[in-house]
Amino acid sequence: MPSQSVLVIGGGLAGLSSAIALAEAGFRVQLLEKRPHLGGRATSYTLPDGSEVDNCQHVTLGCCTNLADFYRRLGASGKIRFYDRLYFADAEGRRSEIQASPLPPPLHMAPSFLLFDALTLADKRSIAEAMLAIARSGGNPPRADGASMLDWLHAMQQTPGAIERFWRVVLVSALDEELARTDARYGIEVFWKGFLSNARGYRIGIPSVPLADLYEGCRKEIVARGGDLRMRCGVREIRVRNERFTAAVLDDGSEVEADACIAAVPHDVLLEQLPGAMAETGGPLEGLRHIRTSPITSVHFWFDRTVMTEPFLTLLDHTTQWIFNKTRLSAGSETNGGSTRPTEHREGVEAGDVSRTEAADSEGQYLQLVISASYDLVPRSRLEIIELCRCELADVLPATRDAKVLKATVIKEVNATFSPEPEVDRWRPEQVTSIPNLFLAGDWTQTGWPSTMEGAVRSGYLAAEAVLSRYGQATSLLQPDLSPEGLSKFWAKQSRARG
Ligand SMILES: Cc1cc2nc3c(=O)[nH]c(=O)nc-3n(C[C@H](O)[C@H](O)[C@H](O)COP(=O)(O)OP(=O)(O)OC[C@H]3O[C@@H](n4cnc5c(N)ncnc54)[C@H](O)[C@@H]3O)c2cc1C
Repeated sequence: MPSQSVLVIGGGLAGLSSAIALAEAGFRVQLLEKRPHLGGRATSYTLPDGSEVDNCQHVTLGCCTNLADFYRRLGASGKIRFYDRLYFADAEGRRSEIQASPLPPPLHMAPSFLLFDALTLADKRSIAEAMLAIARSGGNPPRADGASMLDWLHAMQQTPGAIERFWRVVLVSALDEELARTDARYGIEVFWKGFLSNARGYRIGIPSVPLADLYEGCRKEIVARGGDLRMRCGVREIRVRNERFTAAVLDDGSEVEADACIAAVPHDVLLEQLPGAMAETGGPLEGLRHIRTSPITSVHFWFDRTVMTEPFLTLLDHTTQWIFNKTRLSAGSETNGGSTRPTEHREGVEAGDVSRTEAADSEGQYLQLVISASYDLVPRSRLEIIELCRCELADVLPATRDAKVLKATVIKEVNATFSPEPEVDRWRPEQVTSIPNLFLAGDWTQTGWPSTMEGAVRSGYLAAEAVLSRYGQATSLLQPDLSPEGLSKFWAKQSRARG
């Protein structure tokens, strides 16, 4: 068993996943988190009135194999419910559904796609051709290198309807960026891994408990293995002497020493903590200064009655992209009841309550609306945003027209994810650094994945693998992708053989 100590700075998914993997491997792990709760950008907290909300609905997909492994380690897999059917509503509220058929990939979605009302025949034909190009190349179609997703879609002669009502709908919410600012490789990967290579890749997993509840198992596991987690414990400096990490200097001036350190904080925070020479022009981490972020806005409505039957709904032709029926999604789960967590105050996050009148009765419903790449909403007032969303709800959920809004809240995450701009990967650093006992984790490090929980966990596992390797325990923690099936398996093999 190793006797080394590892300091993990940051209790988001990157920090937690590296910490639990190293604790399980026998390291003495100490995790320092600035905020009062775990989970970082994927967390929940208590509003001043006592209701517990996720900072934003987080969903996983069947293709997120490392996140699934992480939840398994925490004992939280049972708190994620998977849904096989996706529901869509157009401007008039007309519904379409998509789900897998027994056909082998990549044809498993074809029957419900053919019946999808919101697209014309010409839209469907152009989409089918682009999908075929992705599938036949094993996820590596031509003309994608260095291109934006929009450029690639134009090169694939996609109709305006296909771009607006299909590609944009899926990709802006998956990648939190407009198509013109998205690297085509990221967009194509979403379809290859999620919809084309394996019949389970597209299944949507949604936590049935508040996000912060998922991480309790992580805390217990680390403590049970002799580790320690300190909350409200901000690090202001990562000290490096003679090319070695020596200590983390806390906001109160005290120091924490360890044999090795994994810095799992947001990339802009890391720039402030590192010795200047590492992050300045010409330094090994200079690229971090070029990574831009994009915003996500969530709008929370508490109605006095039932207004929605589906568990969730994807909207076409609206500013609102998703509606989650939180009451239904958490039905039958054990939650904390809502008032034990500290109230949230965070930089870059704005939250506010309006229109509070009376408590919801047992028939009331809590809905959460999500808008990714919400650049246009950032400067707008909460009241304006609530009004806009209320009108859009009336289009697709007629029962909201007569229902009373008991309470509404807007949460703007201004720096929600890093922007998957064309060629952003050249700015993303590896998990190992030029300092042999200093490692990096975070969704922004090199993982091949966009800014997602899966990307964060991959980075945590890669950082933990690097620590293990440094101390002579070369072990693989990273989980393989879902294997391609059916024709996709055949085409992926052919594409690999072609090199
Ligand atoms: C609104 C929103 C919606 C999203 N929706 C989805 C989704 O549906 N599906 C999905 O897969 N992904 C989603 N994401 C992305 C996902 O949340 C992130 O990719 C992931 O959580 C990033 O994890 P991380 O550990 O890399 O970073 P973070 O979660 O940012 O963790 C960094 C941690 O470091 C801590 N820290 C900061 N400064 C210090 C300091 N000085 N000292 C100590 N600790 C410090 C922070 O408090 C934080 O806990 C969403 C993100 C947002 C914001």
